[in-house]
Amino acid sequence: MRYYLLIFVVIIFGAANNSFSATIDKSYVSPFQGTYDKAENYWLENIGSKPNNNTRSSILYFLGNVTNTMFHEFGHALISEFEIPVLGREEDAVDSFANIMMISEDPDPILDEMIVAVSDEYFEEGKFSELVAWDEHSMNEQRAYAVVCMLVGADPVGFKHAADNANMPKDRQEACAFEWGKTSVSWNKLLEEHYLSAKEKHAPRIIVQYQKPEEKYIKVAGLLEASGIIEDVAEYIGVTYKIPNDIIVSVKRCGEENAFWEPDNHKLTMCYELVDKYLASATSTQSTSNK
Ligand SMILES: [Zn+2]
Repeated sequence: MRYYLLIFVVIIFGAANNSFSATIDKSYVSPFQGTYDKAENYWLENIGSKPNNNTRSSILYFLGNVTNTMFHEFGHALISEFEIPVLGREEDAVDSFANIMMISEDPDPILDEMIVAVSDEYFEEGKFSELVAWDEHSMNEQRAYAVVCMLVGADPVGFKHAADNANMPKDRQEACAFEWGKTSVSWNKLLEEHYLSAKEKHAPRIIVQYQKPEEKYIKVAGLLEASGIIEDVAEYIGVTYKIPNDIIVSVKRCGEENAFWEPDNHKLTMCYELVDKYLASATSTQSTSNK
């Protein structure tokens, strides 16, 4: 059993009650199964698979990185909407938030591969990007290891392979248990007064809008819309927290590979350029999360 605090998957996807069981239930179906199935249907019809490419891993790689980026930006959103104090760098704090949100209580064959793919993407990016010490974000390799640390901290046995694959030293793996606990408890403490109670009704306040994509982004836009992954994350945030303002999630062309939160406009933007980069990585990278 993992020491989870934030329960993304069960609330939004309506997992069966027995998903909270500490023992592995062979009839367990990932709450992400429906999202995966929709993505796979679209993928097989419109994107296809190259020989030697593992379609399932590619799809989970794509979904994992999109989900993590969405949670990263919603982390910024929660900080500004609730005026949450941040000690240290906000980019690191919201990376942690995004990683924590993707670690379920029990092993999940879909979500686990999605979150490992996030570290794979950072490691991959780290091979090609210049080391920039002044950036507001940590360096790609550090962000990759931050994901791995949360994983092996939450589940030292289940994610040992991920930490070993990333060559994380044993003593560091052990220290991650403390780091995971401290980080997840801290986030929970900061957010607990903002949770919607079961009795509270909250009008939908997060609206997802897709800008009509130009030719080169038609497939990736179609994949996003078909899977509903953007809506899934937005809906989870909307039904979990007492967000004071309406929020727009805009999926659009930006002219750069990016995603961002605009506090004054209460607007989250996910750029087609960024999700297209994830799609390119998903179809070319031999993910270490392949099993
Ligand atoms: Zn950020």
